[in-house]
Amino acid sequence: MSTNPVIVALDYPSAAPALELAGRLSPSLCRLKIGKELYTRCGPALVEQLQGKGFDIFLDLKFHDIPNTVAGAVRAAGELGVWMVNVHAGGGRRMMEAAVDSLQGLAQKPLLIGVTVLTSMTEEDLRELGYRETAAQRVLRLSALAADCGLDGVVCSAVEATELREARGDDFCLVTPGIRLAGDSADDQRRVVTPADALSMGSDYLVIGRSITGAADPLAALERVHAELSASA
Ligand code: C5P
Repeated sequence: MSTNPVIVALDYPSAAPALELAGRLSPSLCRLKIGKELYTRCGPALVEQLQGKGFDIFLDLKFHDIPNTVAGAVRAAGELGVWMVNVHAGGGRRMMEAAVDSLQGLAQKPLLIGVTVLTSMTEEDLRELGYRETAAQRVLRLSALAADCGLDGVVCSAVEATELREARGDDFCLVTPGIRLAGDSADDQRRVVTPADALSMGSDYLVIGRSITGAADPLAALERVHAELSASA
């Protein structure tokens, strides 16, 4: 789906290290993800600064609220010019449809992505919340609902990507974290896959954090990702 599938997660507590890393990378090799911590500290100014350097931004704020509130937040993200934004699919049909509608009329719409089941949730966590489905069943159900509401895709693990690709077809965008370069530590991720394996399992976009941000030479690590992807293409 994309010629540039790599999204680097800027998981930093302040603008300085985020800007320093961005200065070492190139918009032709990656997009950047800004999550709750960095956004809460630095706000739209940092998004604009990084966009000014040519980077596409995935604003990973996982909105989940009443439809009117989420619609306003998604519209604000669209007007900020971000390339991708996300909402919790568990917010339901009316919330997701309101989010889709809020982007009508924008000259350049961001990709609107749903979060299904957080990978931190165990089967026991789901049961405690009263859900009778397994995590895998819930991922499929929420992905189908997200697609039906007009979302562009979902965040999923590479392990889920193959089944989702079959169920939802080629136009549904699959965004996959939990990626590690061969030989890197898994850190706190429970299941990790390499960039090439994730694409071959059906992912469109790879969210990569510590394999790049924690490398002694982040640009070299990013180039290794692209080399691995070219070798397997
Ligand atoms: O450092 P690492 O590559 O594990 O970072 C992955 C990024 O993807 C982090 O920003 C993390 O919050 C995010 N993420 C994740 N698992 C999910 C959803 C998002 O690791 N299910």
